[in-house]
Amino acid sequence: MVAPASSNSVIVAGAGIVGLAAAYELGRRGHRVTVLDKEASEAVHQTGNNSGVIHSGLYYAPGSLKATLGTAGAASMKAFAQAHGVDVEITGKLVVATTESQLPALKELLRRGMENGVPCRLIGPGGARGYEPYVQCVAALRVESTGIVDYRGICAVLVRLIREGGGEIHFHSEITAVRSDSRGVTVETVSGTHRADGFVNCAGLHSDRVARLAGLRPEVRIIPFRGEYYELAPELAHLVNGLIYPVPDPAFPFLGVHLTKMTTGAVHAGPNAVFAFAREGYSWLNVNPRDLMDSAAWPGLWKLGAKFWRVGVGEAARSLSRKRFLSGLRQLVPSLPDDCLVPAHAGVRAQAMRRNGALVDDFLYERAPRQIHVLNSPSPAATAGLEIGRLIADELERESDK
Ligand SMILES: Cc1cc2nc3c(=O)[nH]c(=O)nc-3n(C[C@H](O)[C@H](O)[C@H](O)COP(=O)(O)OP(=O)(O)OC[C@H]3O[C@@H](n4cnc5c(N)ncnc54)[C@H](O)[C@@H]3O)c2cc1C
Repeated sequence: MVAPASSNSVIVAGAGIVGLAAAYELGRRGHRVTVLDKEASEAVHQTGNNSGVIHSGLYYAPGSLKATLGTAGAASMKAFAQAHGVDVEITGKLVVATTESQLPALKELLRRGMENGVPCRLIGPGGARGYEPYVQCVAALRVESTGIVDYRGICAVLVRLIREGGGEIHFHSEITAVRSDSRGVTVETVSGTHRADGFVNCAGLHSDRVARLAGLRPEVRIIPFRGEYYELAPELAHLVNGLIYPVPDPAFPFLGVHLTKMTTGAVHAGPNAVFAFAREGYSWLNVNPRDLMDSAAWPGLWKLGAKFWRVGVGEAARSLSRKRFLSGLRQLVPSLPDDCLVPAHAGVRAQAMRRNGALVDDFLYERAPRQIHVLNSPSPAATAGLEIGRLIADELERESDK
């Protein structure tokens, strides 16, 4: 079936939080939206398998998109959840320095946080134990605005609102071709053809491929990094009140294995960061030859590997050994007993990498006539989802006015 194009129709690829938020915002502005996703329902990939954290905006370089959209997103995501009855709680969090050598990095986080307008302050071990009685540290950063939310619930609300606004969402619709001409864009899927004036690519783990289908030559490739989680045995959930994070390694865009009390009351531990052998590689057993070749053929992967192979080997070892995973967590909470971890879900991060091996830190998108392609939407893109949606709508309207 070919849907006729109207004067302001837009096709959005991807029913993760970024695609849905963009479609919702475009719909609110009067555009006729059609969302296409290859899966059977929304939030099947990154959005539905993340840590469920509303990040405060602490970590990000002041002035970056992550800092501005992340900080604004923390407020808008909380307000949206509250307005629509989705589980949300602003618990606050501790970033914990366990050695003196981590203090400079902790102070740098404080500086960034203050510059980004995040309510945060340095506290000593006694102050930290006032929030988290079982934590061990030499100092900690207390952040008040961090919280937890049910992102699947947020996406279910967005799906409902898009449909109520007259938009369409088609699942089982993997995009196989994108052609543009002077009047619009034709998108082929495995289940039909759609036509519209504009196109937005929010395909997450496959966003570089969808961009190439549309004729772009993105300067980045998506490299998949799996994040694995354990859950604390339910009788030990009282050991964690909110969120306990380590001081992150500034060389990496990942935050380190942390403890998170979810909206369900369960405590999640993770995620680590291991190179995945498939873009949807949720376990070591998922190997996709095409994905693996795509990663291996990208010169950046080898450059990153040559520089950081020790970190990679350490993460792989931690992935394969529950004991090592636990010993990382015990640096934060020493009283965690043996056998306290139960394997839980995993998520795969779509991390854009440049040819020189640099991991793209900020959100990244490319414009084409009447098209926007989101090529890097890592954490905190769930937190910032509604803000990214607004940015995409602004950019698309600008592109369409040209
Ligand atoms: C382990 C982990 C923990 C994280 N923790 C947090 C956190 O606590 N807080 C936070 O703010 N962020 C977190 N993030 C980041 C956050 O989850 C992502 O930034 C966000 O979900 C990205 O959303 P998205 O819509 O871009 O991608 P996705 O949710 O991956 O959605 C992309 C969609 O595109 C669809 N698609 C792909 N290819 C095609 C195609 N060819 N045709 C049709 N459809 C297609 C997919 O099926 C998918 O539904 C975490 C991420 C991970 C992986």
